[in-house]
Amino acid sequence: MIDLHSHTTASDGTFSPAQLVDEAARIGVGILGITDHDTFSGYDRAVPLALQAGLELVCGIELSTKLHGNSVHLLGYFLSTDGLGVFRGWIGDLQASRRERNVRLVARLQQLGLKITLEEVQARGGEMTGRPHFAQLLLEKGYVRSLQQAFDDYLDESAKGYVTRNEPQFADAVEHIREGGGIASLAHPIRLREDVAAVLPALRAAGLNAIEAYHSDHSPAQTELYLQLAAQHGLLVTGGSDFHGAVKPEIQLGTGRGGNLHVPPDLLDRLKA
Ligand code: AMP
Ligand code: FE
Ligand code: FE
Ligand code: ZN
Repeated sequence: MIDLHSHTTASDGTFSPAQLVDEAARIGVGILGITDHDTFSGYDRAVPLALQAGLELVCGIELSTKLHGNSVHLLGYFLSTDGLGVFRGWIGDLQASRRERNVRLVARLQQLGLKITLEEVQARGGEMTGRPHFAQLLLEKGYVRSLQQAFDDYLDESAKGYVTRNEPQFADAVEHIREGGGIASLAHPIRLREDVAAVLPALRAAGLNAIEAYHSDHSPAQTELYLQLAAQHGLLVTGGSDFHGAVKPEIQLGTGRGGNLHVPPDLLDRLKA
């Protein structure tokens, strides 16, 4: 099996890189893409472990970008693993803007009467603390009854606790990925707030290379539509479960939601070519 979209404890997943590699080996995922949000540290730690386990590991990352004012996730694959690379420097800037946002988000939530501290959130998120870790803390403290309620009531873009973050524009992020030698793929297109068919020409013009047609959130009909659109616009295809571990227990590595994911094994060859 092949799965090109997964998260570790380096971002908002609950499996450490070692546990993720073990899980892949256990269930027969032979090609694994690690796509943590804004960081390569999970991938870096998994490299020697995957080698030992005989897995093919694909270097990936998931970036939050802005497109026409909306948040859009973009996957980057095959980025230079050179520790001194320009792309990794740019990722450092994104991480700094996230940390700065987290300080303001704690202040905003305190203003709303929630007794939380930056230290408490960071204890859950580590170097890549994000809104999912805030959600976890609010749940643990009993301020909400579910992770989803934490987003609905406080953390979603439309909710009262939301504070903005300096996210790169979609086209800018595509350019950085391509300059870093990578391939840029539109993550889970089903979550786009705009009509995918209508915006794809503009995304293609911005340099987008691929679209994630296979994803746990896609129905067979949606996957079919995205495959068609990819063919029509000359885009490559990527796919993966978006595995996050215990915070999204309904999604399994490799097989998605109740076995709804089937990423064709030859897809990687086309990406590499
Ligand atoms: P951050 O990058 O820290 O701003 O957090 C963004 C992450 O929060 C996304 O990748 C999603 O996993 C999660 N998220 C954002 N909005 C929602 C929402 N309305 N419901 C559930 N999860 C969300
Ligand atoms: Fe995530
Ligand atoms: Fe995503
Ligand atoms: Zn993801």
